[in-house]
Amino acid sequence: MNASSETLLRNFSLRSTPTREQIIHLFLKKNYALSHGDIEKEITDELDRVTVYRTLKTFLDKGLIHKVLDDEGSLKYALCNEACTLTGHHHDHVHFKCVMCGQTNCLNVNVPPVKLPKGYKANEVNLLIQGICERCS
Ligand SMILES: [Zn+2]
Ligand SMILES: [Zn+2]
Ligand SMILES: [Zn+2]
Repeated sequence: MNASSETLLRNFSLRSTPTREQIIHLFLKKNYALSHGDIEKEITDELDRVTVYRTLKTFLDKGLIHKVLDDEGSLKYALCNEACTLTGHHHDHVHFKCVMCGQTNCLNVNVPPVKLPKGYKANEVNLLIQGICERCS
């Protein structure tokens, strides 16, 4: 990912605001899934929680970031790939949480197809694998 925060915002027809730029910049810089708390901690400017929450919600709706479920039940967010748009998120990739560094990453690996019992229809698939990441092993 080498797009700048400004380009990303423009591509998604989002008005550029300092908050939006800072949050996107953080995602680009960190390269792993961030929780609401992580974002608040990293942003030095005085930002209220509501602004952070609203910005994340906008990004989520626009297809710029996606939810990453964590084992602790907390929600994290990661940047989407190009396939995601306003109309929806298009990825079923695996998330990997490292028990050593605690980082959760998007893996370029698809969730294997799961056969559901009759009458069940999946809307969304989340798969979190826990283990030791490339950097820590
Ligand atoms: Zn997405
Ligand atoms: Zn690790
Ligand atoms: Zn992901």
